[in-house]
Amino acid sequence: MNDCIFCKIIAGELPSWKVYEDEHTVAFLDIHPKQKGHTLVLPKEHCADFLNAQQSCLQDTLETTQKVARAVVKAVDAEGCKVFTNNGTVAGQDVFHLHWHIVPYSQIHHHDEHVSYADGEAQRVADKIRSFFSNDKADV
Ligand code: 5GP
Ligand code: ZN
Repeated sequence: MNDCIFCKIIAGELPSWKVYEDEHTVAFLDIHPKQKGHTLVLPKEHCADFLNAQQSCLQDTLETTQKVARAVVKAVDAEGCKVFTNNGTVAGQDVFHLHWHIVPYSQIHHHDEHVSYADGEAQRVADKIRSFFSNDKADV
């Protein structure tokens, strides 16, 4: 697992724009977003993909994915989102540590294309998503 880039992010050895963390799961912005707010949710414990995941790991990550997806949609004023996980190189998986993609869409941002953040924008988006998990807004 030492060469797993997501394990390194979880261990704090590499930076990320983190939006959520609990005992078993973590979520951070995708470095090459398909839409602004594109977020990845993953288990802290290394596990290659959905097909190989333990039930408990799936439950934890799915619960977090729903919670984080609600916050992402609100944070970027989206109207919906895609939630998916790729399994295997042939299906487009590049990082072999289970992760759920959350990609928010709105009427004006509904094309599948890569976008980039302006200086400081990713931090602001991450802060906004994270704000939905503060005590006074724990209803996401
Ligand atoms: P996959 O293709 O495996 O389903 O998705 C991997 C995702 O991880 C891609 O969307 C890619 O942009 C993202 N990614 C790859 N390396 C990093 C990284 O170092 N940091 C972050 N935040 N995302 C990454
Ligand atoms: Zn890993």
